[in-house]
Amino acid sequence: MAIRFRIDKSHTDITAKSTIKKAIAFLKTAEVDPPYLLMDTAKVKQKVRSIGRKIGNSKVFYAVKANPDSEVLRLIHNLGLGFEIASEGELAILESIGVPKEHIITSNPMKSFRFLRAATEYGVDYFAFDSKDEVLKLRDYAPGCRVYVRLSVPNEGSEWPLSKKFGVELDEAEELLIYAKKKGLKPVGLTFHVGSQCTNPYNWNSALDKAKMLWDRARKAGIRLSILNIGGGYPINYTKNVVDIATIENNVNSLIYKKFPDNIQVYLEPGRAVVGDAGIFVSRVIGRAWRGDAHWLYIDVGVFNGLMESVGGIKYSYIVEGSKETKEWTLAGPSCDSFDVIDKRIELPEPEIGSRVLILSGGAYTISYASEFNGFSIPRTILI
Ligand SMILES: *Cc1c(COP(=O)(O)O)cnc(C)c1O
Repeated sequence: MAIRFRIDKSHTDITAKSTIKKAIAFLKTAEVDPPYLLMDTAKVKQKVRSIGRKIGNSKVFYAVKANPDSEVLRLIHNLGLGFEIASEGELAILESIGVPKEHIITSNPMKSFRFLRAATEYGVDYFAFDSKDEVLKLRDYAPGCRVYVRLSVPNEGSEWPLSKKFGVELDEAEELLIYAKKKGLKPVGLTFHVGSQCTNPYNWNSALDKAKMLWDRARKAGIRLSILNIGGGYPINYTKNVVDIATIENNVNSLIYKKFPDNIQVYLEPGRAVVGDAGIFVSRVIGRAWRGDAHWLYIDVGVFNGLMESVGGIKYSYIVEGSKETKEWTLAGPSCDSFDVIDKRIELPEPEIGSRVLILSGGAYTISYASEFNGFSIPRTILI
């Protein structure tokens, strides 16, 4: 089949031309049956180098849930990052690639018993918490461990908010730090998450204001904090250009410099920004139909085997192998569930049955969410 991918500026504005070129070169030579996820290693390297660069005294812990593929983790490990994890499964992959315990933290404030057992056995020593019950659990499973409290901060402007499920307000945060100390834990810091895919740089301003208030209250209560964990949230391009990492970090760095003591250690936990725009899904058109008032296009990757975030509002950009003519489509996945609709009213070239569709910025929160629902296998991940 001749390859006639329709690539224009709207695509190269979203994903680096070099990444798109590599993916298409792979398609031309490799005999791999779609669907699969291509991960551009050069792009991951570039992102790793750019994150944390503008923030003084910072350490970066990649949030494993964004993409836990073992080859991807090995690459990130070799580039020197640490890891933020939440489960025994994530820990097992890190163990299999030889990540030392000092490079692992866990910021899930509600840890399962299995995970606590596995993490303490491995020697992980940094745990987030936001309740008294969690302090008691930690006291029992990891006596004397280092803890940081999760503060609730505004998540406006984030496409994937996280603030309702986790985090406490200032009064409770202060109380919890004191309680943790009383129970023999070492309260060393605080953390927050501005929300994932945070396109509003001012979220970090309000979060850091609040963090500073807690920092001072803790000091007055006799607790000297040393770690400011600013979580994740850096955005990537999906359908439009977002604020870049250097701009966010310059702002964050100057705020930290103004508000906090010089000797603090800053932790960062990016997930999406490390891997998201390095990934391109390769899928195929398996059907077309005219139903009601819409043209439907069915592809072999859907909500259940990779594109789960589409139901939460994430929209992707697509490069389609097809004719010059475009049409408005409803894009759906392969399963028999009517929930499996990826996007509506999107303008795409008219493809043939069997044509390939590239889904850009597919490296984060895709394979990690995928299930084998309805018997469709989870797409392979291939590093290029
Ligand atoms: C998911 C998560 C992250 C990563 O968030 P991104 O928006 O992908 O950068 C960081 N920290 C914690 C605690 C998380 O749950």
